Amino acid sequence: MAYLLHGSKLSASQIVASIFQHDAEKGKSLVHEICDQLLVPSKHTSRRTDAIEWLKVFFSEGDSFDNFCTKVRNMDSSSLCGCVWTANFVAYRCRTCATSPCMSLCAACFEKGVHEGHDYNIFRSEAGGACDCGDSSVLQASGFCSHHGPNRIPPQPQPPRFLAAGKVLLDRMFLMFIHVLRMFSEDSTDGGNISFPTEVKQFFEFVLDLVKLGSPVRKHVSQLLLNESLYSDIMQCKRYKCLSDSNSQILSFHKKSMDLFHDAVKATDKPIMVEEIKDTGQFDRSYQYKTYLDEIMFWIVRYEFPEPVILIVLNLLPDTEMKREFSKCFTRHYSRIAISLLRSSNVDQLCNRVVHISVQLFSNNDLACMLATEENLLEVFLLSMHNIIRPFLEDSQTSSRDYHQCISSNSHHLKTNVYWPIVSDFVNVLSHQRIARMFLESANLINCWFQQLMAFCGMDLCNRQLRSHIEYDREPTMAMHAFYSERESCATTLWCLIDTLQDPTTSHMTLIVIRTLMDTITELFDALGFEEMQTLPYDQCSFHYPLHRYLAQLISNGIKKQGLTIRELNISEDEAMKLMSHPLQVLTTMYEVTCNMWVRNGIHVSTQALAYKQYFFCKFFIDSDLYLLQLCASILPPDTFIASVFERCRVIDCLNLPRTAVAPTLPYKSSSAPHEEKIPKMLEAAFKLILSIFSVKTPIDLKDEDLIQAEVIVLLTSQSCTYSMLSDHIPHEFHSGSKALLITDLLTKLLKDFATKKEGDTMEQTTYLPNDAAWKLYDPVFMEHRTLYKRDMQHAHTSYLKHLKENDKLEKHVTEADIWPPYQPVHTLPAQYESLANLLHCKTLFAFIFTILNKQDEVTDITLSIILHLLDASFRVTPFPPHGADFPENKRSRKEDVWYAPFQALYDLNDPFVNFVKLIPVSDDKHPLDQSASQTTSPSHNQSQKMTKESILTLLLRLYDKCSGKSASFCLDENKLNSSFTLPAVPPMRANVISNLLHLAAARSAEVKQTIQVICGTTAPPSAMVTDVDGRPLDMDEQSRKLQAREARKRLMKQMAMKQQQFMQQAQMTLMVSEQPSDSQLQSNFSESMVEEDNLARDFGLKVMPTYECVICGNSETELEATNEQGDSNPSERLMSLICLVQPSTVLGHRTDSVRKTAPYKPGSYHPKVLSCRGHVVNRHNLMKLQSHHTKFEQQFREQNLFASAVGIHVSSCGHHVHLACQRDYMDSVRRDESSQLNYDMHRGFMCPLCRQTSNLVLPCNIRPKQFNISETQNYRVLISKIWLETLNDIESISESATFSALIAQQSSNSLNLVAFASAIVRTNLENHLLQLGNTLLLKEVDPSLSPRLSLISRKLPVGNFFILMYRMNKVNGSKETRDRNSAHMRTVVDRLSGRIPGESSDILLLLEDPITLLLQMMLESPLTQAHFHTNVELLFNLVYIQALVHVSCKFSSEERRAWKNNVSTSMGGIPFSSDNLECLLGFVIRFLPHQLFEIPKESFEQLIGLQGMGYSTTVFSPQSVMEHVERLVLHFLQVASLLHHHLFDEGHLPIKTNSKNEFGVLATYLGLSDESPNSIDVMKCLKWDKPTSIVRQWCEESSDFIRSHSKSARSLLTSHRTWLAPHLLDLPRHYSTLFQLFRESKCDKCGSMPDDPAVCLVCGAFICYKKTCKPEPHEDDVLFSSTGNSRVETQLKAACRHAQRCGAGTSIFLLINSAVVVLIRGTRACIWGTVYLDAHGEEDRGWKRGKPLFLKPERLRLLEQQWIQHVFDSACKGWTVHGNSL
Ligand SMILES: [Zn+2]
Ligand SMILES: [Zn+2]
Ligand SMILES: [Zn+2]
Ligand SMILES: [Zn+2]
Ligand SMILES: [Zn+2]
Ligand SMILES: [Zn+2]
Ligand SMILES: [Zn+2]
Repeated sequence: MAYLLHGSKLSASQIVASIFQHDAEKGKSLVHEICDQLLVPSKHTSRRTDAIEWLKVFFSEGDSFDNFCTKVRNMDSSSLCGCVWTANFVAYRCRTCATSPCMSLCAACFEKGVHEGHDYNIFRSEAGGACDCGDSSVLQASGFCSHHGPNRIPPQPQPPRFLAAGKVLLDRMFLMFIHVLRMFSEDSTDGGNISFPTEVKQFFEFVLDLVKLGSPVRKHVSQLLLNESLYSDIMQCKRYKCLSDSNSQILSFHKKSMDLFHDAVKATDKPIMVEEIKDTGQFDRSYQYKTYLDEIMFWIVRYEFPEPVILIVLNLLPDTEMKREFSKCFTRHYSRIAISLLRSSNVDQLCNRVVHISVQLFSNNDLACMLATEENLLEVFLLSMHNIIRPFLEDSQTSSRDYHQCISSNSHHLKTNVYWPIVSDFVNVLSHQRIARMFLESANLINCWFQQLMAFCGMDLCNRQLRSHIEYDREPTMAMHAFYSERESCATTLWCLIDTLQDPTTSHMTLIVIRTLMDTITELFDALGFEEMQTLPYDQCSFHYPLHRYLAQLISNGIKKQGLTIRELNISEDEAMKLMSHPLQVLTTMYEVTCNMWVRNGIHVSTQALAYKQYFFCKFFIDSDLYLLQLCASILPPDTFIASVFERCRVIDCLNLPRTAVAPTLPYKSSSAPHEEKIPKMLEAAFKLILSIFSVKTPIDLKDEDLIQAEVIVLLTSQSCTYSMLSDHIPHEFHSGSKALLITDLLTKLLKDFATKKEGDTMEQTTYLPNDAAWKLYDPVFMEHRTLYKRDMQHAHTSYLKHLKENDKLEKHVTEADIWPPYQPVHTLPAQYESLANLLHCKTLFAFIFTILNKQDEVTDITLSIILHLLDASFRVTPFPPHGADFPENKRSRKEDVWYAPFQALYDLNDPFVNFVKLIPVSDDKHPLDQSASQTTSPSHNQSQKMTKESILTLLLRLYDKCSGKSASFCLDENKLNSSFTLPAVPPMRANVISNLLHLAAARSAEVKQTIQVICGTTAPPSAMVTDVDGRPLDMDEQSRKLQAREARKRLMKQMAMKQQQFMQQAQMTLMVSEQPSDSQLQSNFSESMVEEDNLARDFGLKVMPTYECVICGNSETELEATNEQGDSNPSERLMSLICLVQPSTVLGHRTDSVRKTAPYKPGSYHPKVLSCRGHVVNRHNLMKLQSHHTKFEQQFREQNLFASAVGIHVSSCGHHVHLACQRDYMDSVRRDESSQLNYDMHRGFMCPLCRQTSNLVLPCNIRPKQFNISETQNYRVLISKIWLETLNDIESISESATFSALIAQQSSNSLNLVAFASAIVRTNLENHLLQLGNTLLLKEVDPSLSPRLSLISRKLPVGNFFILMYRMNKVNGSKETRDRNSAHMRTVVDRLSGRIPGESSDILLLLEDPITLLLQMMLESPLTQAHFHTNVELLFNLVYIQALVHVSCKFSSEERRAWKNNVSTSMGGIPFSSDNLECLLGFVIRFLPHQLFEIPKESFEQLIGLQGMGYSTTVFSPQSVMEHVERLVLHFLQVASLLHHHLFDEGHLPIKTNSKNEFGVLATYLGLSDESPNSIDVMKCLKWDKPTSIVRQWCEESSDFIRSHSKSARSLLTSHRTWLAPHLLDLPRHYSTLFQLFRESKCDKCGSMPDDPAVCLVCGAFICYKKTCKPEPHEDDVLFSSTGNSRVETQLKAACRHAQRCGAGTSIFLLINSAVVVLIRGTRACIWGTVYLDAHGEEDRGWKRGKPLFLKPERLRLLEQQWIQHVFDSACKGWTVHGNSL
């Protein structure tokens, strides 16, 4: 039947369909025959390139393939969406609807579902995924969309025999499918990534397309892939004719391919087994390939998850049976994945692809449980982990006895995260509580897991460098890899397990696990050789001990939530001693690093010490370690514990050992002890550690809610935080598992209770500050436990001081140094840990405190404060030990422990109050003396003059005197005695704290109270207690001198601090200036010139400045006088110029006459168009062509001026001047110096040497003689013209990139035209100036707080300079003859305006003229004086007025017109004509204009204009409304004329400060058109003419011919005046999602494709294929474009750059839809502006990292708009880069 393949496709299709109709069997064999032709496997090329086309034909059964597809889709009966996506796809997650955290929804389903008010986020998929819509195992039914789930719209029924041919085709296609897969096994000998040739890819894509059609196809394919008998038949060459026919090509290929398959299977590595897991053959899969699916899975792993194949499989998963079978198959192959991960050359890609699949399977609770029970899933994971870890083990080298093996910290394994997919899947599976239980209950699995954790113990061992720096510094990221791997692999698993151990019912499990863990730890100690050692080595540390941390977390959780007791755990003192060794080593190392003891090890160690505390790691790392110390402290004898801490910190020597007969041996070599200068710091560290045991209660007993509260308070007090920072920096344990849901609600509540919101400026994000309630709970100990950097601690301390002062708790002069950290009092200890109280009461601690207080000048202030706090705690914390009782001694005896025996001997009892007052003899060098020794040797000591007796109490009283600055000043206050027990000392000033402590002790113990009263009751100072043998009073002088010295030092420190702060502020300022635009930054940037700025805003432009100062050389110059020339040998050296920035601009063209803003619209869809100024100019230009022109110059002048009112060259200046010569030198040096080379590549760009603003032109400025009528010498003239010409050429070349510049270039060969060009610049900048002032010249007094706080850079517009340029050009260029002709012509125009002569036929028609153009042209020919300017304005005002009347009369209805006309018609008995009567003039105008003007049918007129809204007013005009109308129409002329006057003559400030609302009146006065007060001015009064009747009649009549012959055009021209409103950026919706949904899946209206990165132009709303080539926009009838004529260049540009040219002459603003970021393009450069959308917490979210709903911040949009209108992007935005046409 092969003939079918030669004929028409349609008929072939119909034939096959009809054969099936009659005989299905015959049909099948026919299709098989066809397939024999079409599906011939071959490696690189298919035999037939049209095979797929033919396959489509036979699938369609007589229909078109597209129709066939639609039909199948409509029959899709699947209740699941299953839409599959790959990386970078944008999807949604709704936490309200989800039952599994891994659930996701495609955008289509999300939008169709109901998620209003839900807690959802949008995210960009990293690994790819699939839509879960309709899957009730991960999503509540409420989250399903209307098309999925049980209540979906029912599908169409499937007709019988549907897809009959298709099924056979599919059978054969999958045979081909495995043939193709097998073929490539030779290519990939070492496994791995293969790239399929295009033909093969097309084939896969076709299969994928079919599978995507829905359940009819999916069902059949699933059955096919799972059919065991079919597969077995095929492997035996049965079932299909082509396989049994020995001549068949296919058969021979089939046989070969089977060999390839068998070889590949044989070559597959088996995973290495672990002893804990019994090998029952479950991992040997070589003989278990029973179905297509099995084999396909084999190839998937073999080829490292080829994307086309995975996508096909993933799209089959909505079929329930398929999903089940596939997940089993996947699990069976899982251990092989580990092996391929190790080998892969593209690990990242492979990881993503593996997870893409596994997430779909393992997130499903039922499926995962089934796999765990039926397919040994957990064992598979452990085995896979083992296989991944095993190759990277290396010897741990802690000591010679160490035979432990741990993961090499240098390994590739850590760097590439190969373990990641396996760990992630493992955690995903364990998050199902049933499975976690299963895991915990299996001793084998747990044991196996702990064995694997052991490999993480002792990773990245560091030895402290004592002499030299380490030779090379490994990159700090290396250290982080080890941290990440411990966190990912060990910690996350633990959190899952703990989630199931939440109540007493599971306590037995915890106990068993803890026991197993203890055994494993013993094994670890054994391996490390630690069992035999007494102490761990010093100067050596690894930060990684996950087994210890598991133990800590499990015990802590067990005690807190499951009712376990410490006793039950049965941990012996010996075990405790060993257990705490490693955590203590790590914690001490962390302190050593902060004391700079590890500097020689470089950044590698310091990074680890920071990471150890960081929010991402702290829960598992530092918290666990500290907890284990707390636990051990409550098990061990207190003296032993305290001594161990001091021993580990190696600060014993400095404790002033008590003088005894025998010197004890130190437990460490003194050579390795901290250096002398570091000892005070390490001593502080030792006390901090002890304090942490009591104060950091985090893991001990706080509830989760309280823990989070503590974390939030630390964050709030240590820095100013945004919401996301707060929520992200809450330690990560809370972000996993069941606790994740807790956070959001809790945080909201906590912020309400403890924070105040700070909105900030336009570009600032909302932050939170701590309130008073938060400061009450401020805990410096926990703060230090959590914060990484000293600066954060410092910030908290400073803010605390500020808080105290604001609440009047402190006097203003108190500095930070005067207050101590406000430690939170420790009242009670949790019941389980009561024995910790013994630590506070034990003799050793008191002995240490006593010795430290004796040498208080040698310890840090913090140490002192901690000691006092420890004393405070020891008086508060109960239970007190029974009087006289002793604590148990350490049962084991180490010779090292002997060292602290003399300390212990200082006190007899463990009673804090007895010890507090006990007097102990002290030698003069402050060493306590052994009492027994002192007694026995007392005779010899009698000679000693300085033997004293002190107690802690006497020492404290002395300290109190010192701090309060008075001697013997302390006395007990009875009131305080009663309250001191509960109150902490506020403010925590030294004397306060001591006094509080003394009161507390007195309140608690009568003995202490009595002793204090005895001491203080006597008149003698406490020093009297000092039993000085001679009774010599203590040298008070010495004391006060010390005090003075201390004060002096403090003052000095304060001064230093102030200086530093100043410097920092300055440095910060420069830093900020170089960052993104933020309001405050801009403000600070320009604050220096604030005063000047204020003026600048009002008086832009050219002033008669006496001098110009060069910002480079500092010299000043005056105006160059032409008459000075003789005395001036080289005037060019004195030439000054203004630093300017030239930019082509279309901002004016984007003005509209409608108040309505454009809203975003779907590409290609209809949206209401408003008339833009640019469109209007193009229309007018077309109409103007009809008019004749006197000269070519005149025509060009008009044309240029017309264009200039829409698009033109914007010139602005920062207002600084330079010598032209200095500038040349400067530019040379800039060019030579690479570093100062502008980091933005702008044509001729440079930065102003003074203010660093972007500039690109220097504009000569001091060449205007004060008097223009001074005759100029020829030399001077030449010089000037030359300079001007150069300047104009510069401008041209700068604006070359602009589209319309071609228009200029076209004509610039004609020198005359340069005048027109310059006039266009004047025009553009005049109009821009008006726009930038807000379209008004009135400056109203407004409340500054009401205006949006937009700070902008005001820049001068040098309009005056350009006018003079134009003026001079006109005087010197061209032939004299031409010049004379032009000026003669202008004179006639002036005569016509004043009515002296009538116009000729060749002349321009005045009524159609643009008065501003005429004004510029008239000024060219008249002397440049105010008087002439005034005359010209007066003349033109008459014209403007009449034009306005014509305009109004065109708006009348014919009846109205008749009425007005009749007013003045004498024949009708009207009123007599009067030139100052508006009604008369109006009637007059109507009478003289030809009636054709008014008789144009409305429709045709609108067609001509091409726009609606021409305003046929239906309202009836009254004389009043006519006048108002006229005033409005003439206003624009007055505004521009005033500005020109201002720029030329620099008189009177613009804008004018006034309360008047009558701008017309104010400006008429300004221009001298009327002398009356602005508010009473009548338009008529401003008209100054001799014979108005004849003038008006003349103007009307000379236009009559034109009006009669071109009535429509004439009307359009006569009514073309518009009031242009300020342009606006797109009217963005409040919700970002509205915008996203509008443009998601939008097809581009130019190229028809769906861009990956859609963008929208915020200026015009155009849809842009960002970064794509796309296609040029259609050339509309727009002279401003058509003249470029360079479409070839245009097509090469990428879409955004091209649009920037079209829409903004190089400048454009784009909003990227997929990231909510605004990007600016300026010519060849681009920069990220920022975002105008913030989330509900006032924060930016660039690129959707958090994906929360975003809302418009209107202030930001307004700022962006203002920056656009003001043309200040270059200076306002930082971070410009060259885009190289890539956007
Ligand atoms: Zn979906
Ligand atoms: Zn759906
Ligand atoms: Zn929802
Ligand atoms: Zn200079
Ligand atoms: Zn400057
Ligand atoms: Zn645009
Ligand atoms: Zn496009």
